[in-house]
Amino acid sequence: MLSVKALFTEYRSGRGPAVKAALDVTFEVPEGKLFTLLGPSGCGKTTTLRSIAGLERPVSGDIEVSGVPVYSSGRDVFVPPNKRDFGMVFQSYAIWPHMNVFENAAFPLRVRSTGLSRTGLSRTGLRDKVMGVLTAVGLDHLAEREATKLSGGQQQRLALARALVMEPKLLLLDEPLSNLDAKLREKMRFELKRIQAALKLTTVYVTHDQSEALALSHEIAVMNEGRIVQIGSPRDIYERPRTRFVADFIGSTNFLDGEIVGRDGESGLWQATTEFGSFKVISEQVFAQGAKVAVSIRPEDVEIVAGGAVEGDTANVLRGVIDQTIFLGDIVDLKVKVGNTLLQARSHPNLGLAVGGDAFLRMRPEKCVAIGVGP
Ligand code: ATP
Repeated sequence: MLSVKALFTEYRSGRGPAVKAALDVTFEVPEGKLFTLLGPSGCGKTTTLRSIAGLERPVSGDIEVSGVPVYSSGRDVFVPPNKRDFGMVFQSYAIWPHMNVFENAAFPLRVRSTGLSRTGLSRTGLRDKVMGVLTAVGLDHLAEREATKLSGGQQQRLALARALVMEPKLLLLDEPLSNLDAKLREKMRFELKRIQAALKLTTVYVTHDQSEALALSHEIAVMNEGRIVQIGSPRDIYERPRTRFVADFIGSTNFLDGEIVGRDGESGLWQATTEFGSFKVISEQVFAQGAKVAVSIRPEDVEIVAGGAVEGDTANVLRGVIDQTIFLGDIVDLKVKVGNTLLQARSHPNLGLAVGGDAFLRMRPEKCVAIGVGP
């Protein structure tokens, strides 16, 4: 539905060199899906979103919605933002201070048709629609309140309601939950996901928060320094990172430095030597013998077998001493010393692991992802 091809956007100011903000950005968003641009601050997410909105004029590239170009450098097309009919919520949302909550949410419906008669909605139709979106964002009980008398989080939800009320063909959201406290943020994630699915809104979502991206998205593009470095489903991105940057940025992980020895028979796995000896690892990449790799292992994939010896398959088993435990309620984060290295692990609080205790660490080969790091 949305197609972005080879988008280059830069900022010029004064006589200094231009800042290259989006470099060769290419992706597609199918109808009704939520696509997230995820990456650290300054990686070019907002610039890409603003280019789609028409708020920035890229240097080159193509942006099409349902096959119709809204920007094309080759064909010299630039549709102005107000003609693109996209719904937008940006970090710096603006609500109308002189209107109450209901009127703020109803505003786009009123201005679009310059008068109620052309909205195709009766007075009750408009009221039902507006109250519907206010209920969806949890503001229905505040419909009559002055918008300035809302908390920051409530204002952010109002901005979202105002974007949703038009049922736009494309919804562009830039950190729309950034002003909410942790609990509300989590609740709104579910709400947003429900609303997006119910209204089948094609959505581009910008965030630097990996758990938000994993929770909400059908597909994620991870960006770094202006470029998309990996596109995939949340599970793909988390479980099969293709670069060290992606593995590191999405959640926490352990990296073991190693070298590929070769294929592990017919298993589809690879044999690698690492700083901790021989490991069976998995990868979608194809390696030559001797290729340098970083083996990424998530803390939750480091299974702790406390005390006694490991029975059965002893591949990928290390012996260590529990160095630190942090109780987080539902889980315990651990640091386990293996040789001179601390590995992160995660366990259930019921295991009752104590600092100073011996532990065997078992890592399933299909959770040990080898990432090529050099020639
Ligand atoms: P954040 O999460 O902090 O909003 P981002 O990933 O959205 O970051 P962008 O805002 O797209 O990043 O910025 C990309 C690059 O372009 C950065 O180097 C930034 O400093 C630069 N940049 C952004 N806006 C401008 C501007 N108006 N003028 C000059 N440079 C800019």
